[in-house]
Amino acid sequence: MRYSRMFIPTVKEIPADAETASHKLMIRAGLIRKVASGTYTYLPLGWRSLLKVIAIVREEMDKAGAQEILVPSMQPKELWDRTGRSTDYGPTMFSLKDRHGRMNVLGPTAEEVFTTLVAGEIKSYKQLPINLYQISPKFRDEFRPRFGPVRSREFIMKDAYSFDADPAGLDESYKSMYDAYCRVFKRCGLEYVIVEAESGEMGGSGSHQFTVPCESGEDTIVYTEDGSYAANLERADVDPLAKEIANAEIPPMEEVHTPNIGSIEAVCKFLKTQPKDMIKTIVLSTPIFSREVLKHWSAEEAKHDGRDVIMGPEYGTVPKRVLALVRGDHEINMEKLMEVWGGEHLELADEEIIERLTGAKVGFAGPVGIKKERFNKIIIDHAIAAMAVGITGANKTDYHTKNVVPGRDFPLEGDNVTVADIRYAGEGDTHNGKKLLFKKGIEVGQVFKLGTKYSEKLGAKFLRTDGHEAPCLMGCYGIGVNRILASAIELGNDNNGIIWPISIAPFEVLATAVNQDDDKVAQVAEDIYQQLLDSGIDVLLDDRVLRGGVKFKDADLIGIPIRVTVGKKSVAEGSVEIKLRCESQSQKVPIEKAADKTIEMVNSLKEQLKA
Ligand code: ATP
Ligand code: MG
Repeated sequence: MRYSRMFIPTVKEIPADAETASHKLMIRAGLIRKVASGTYTYLPLGWRSLLKVIAIVREEMDKAGAQEILVPSMQPKELWDRTGRSTDYGPTMFSLKDRHGRMNVLGPTAEEVFTTLVAGEIKSYKQLPINLYQISPKFRDEFRPRFGPVRSREFIMKDAYSFDADPAGLDESYKSMYDAYCRVFKRCGLEYVIVEAESGEMGGSGSHQFTVPCESGEDTIVYTEDGSYAANLERADVDPLAKEIANAEIPPMEEVHTPNIGSIEAVCKFLKTQPKDMIKTIVLSTPIFSREVLKHWSAEEAKHDGRDVIMGPEYGTVPKRVLALVRGDHEINMEKLMEVWGGEHLELADEEIIERLTGAKVGFAGPVGIKKERFNKIIIDHAIAAMAVGITGANKTDYHTKNVVPGRDFPLEGDNVTVADIRYAGEGDTHNGKKLLFKKGIEVGQVFKLGTKYSEKLGAKFLRTDGHEAPCLMGCYGIGVNRILASAIELGNDNNGIIWPISIAPFEVLATAVNQDDDKVAQVAEDIYQQLLDSGIDVLLDDRVLRGGVKFKDADLIGIPIRVTVGKKSVAEGSVEIKLRCESQSQKVPIEKAADKTIEMVNSLKEQLKA
């Protein structure tokens, strides 16, 4: 390719909404352009890199025995209703009505379609195992699209689905995908860590997440120094805290007037205490549509918002309620809570419901004397059970209660009461007695053991050797293709631009004719370019008639790993300069050896990325 003919719109300005190095550089180096919030066009350089990532992913999937297919991105919403995932994904899932009034979704992933396909085609154990995958656009109406391609609303995902006849088979499929992922990320030049993860909206048991540690990541990896434990923040289990021993006997509970003071911070200031001495009481409920929504939409239409309608008492059936307690300085972890609850999707109850259930305005709820029968479950964090004494809402507007002793003043056991780990790990927490450490990262892939959640609901069954019918055991495996690109840039950049790993760089070599208007220089550059092309090297020739300084700036910005510089002075001496983007020193090589030397360097860089 000739630079003079290529569409590489590099820019100096940093876009206002770009916060991370990768986002800034992808725009500045002319890899992407924003179309709308969370949607991007890939320009020639960006697309070339993306295609290289896709090729690596495809090779490794094929090698692992998975077979590529393509399913539609637009899928009937009815399929998602059958698994209950329209509710789980909620507003994150794009939906649209077709001209016949049928609802469709734009797939955020594709378990439903793959499982339905297998349900229709696979009948016997003889056809198992099978692993199918696709590399295709996915759609998620992210609440906060940001960091460019890292959290976008349309992105390319590789998603694979395995179907096995027995647990040992599932383990094997899982392991083979896990290993393939290691090879993919290694070949893409990424440093990564593998952590235990939460299976989240996917359901099922067992999951690992592949995360690239970097400051701008939105994920937090929690680990112990000796490497014996690593999990993501959603999943990281913490040891129960040691039971606090009170210095003196705790006096009886006492109600205190806290007028209009509902938030933890405000109460702490007013009562001169600390968040860690507060008992936070959270009221949760299965989703209900507000009257506001139902005023405008019929229940049937409201369903198309991506959630099932569960009517509040005012509309008939009673939704489920859960009361959760965590310490004032701790944050509730909904994933952990959902696991303990084990029931339908929960969300924070709205003000009206909180008032009705607790008898007080928001900010004044507490476990003491609350009407237990109004809740399907009360889930208490371990750290609350370890408190000697605390302060909590009095279930009376503008009042709190002091000297509350968990276990004495409200029960820690009994019907529907559970003490469990339902908060995020924080500074000072331990796991198996070892101190937990934290670092940021970008999730580039995740593998899940799904079990029979989807195969049961969607009828993906097969006849076993003994003639009985059983649901397939499934696994699902996702890779964020665009995130690989962004993470590679997060890891490889300096003040001047991108430093690509050779495997996914838009070109392997950049041949720069410093003085394109000098015939001799242009000819030497052209010859080297042709020799490299003939040897199958992916090379870009910078044949633009521009000042050398401008060309070098662009070269550093777009970050091609090897640069062959052909200048007037060195050509006069019979040599050219070869330089790695990641090093500052260049080396002089005789013109006639330039191509061979470059090829040798390409091979050596590639060798380092072999899986
Ligand atoms: P996150 O927690 O970051 O929202 P996720 O765990 O919901 O991601 P998965 O359902 O596991 O994502 O999807 C598989 C892969 O797709 C992820 O590992 C990630 O690399 C990629 N991915 C998910 N959401 C996005 C997005 N909005 N933009 C770009 N890539 C994404
Ligand atoms: Mg994930």
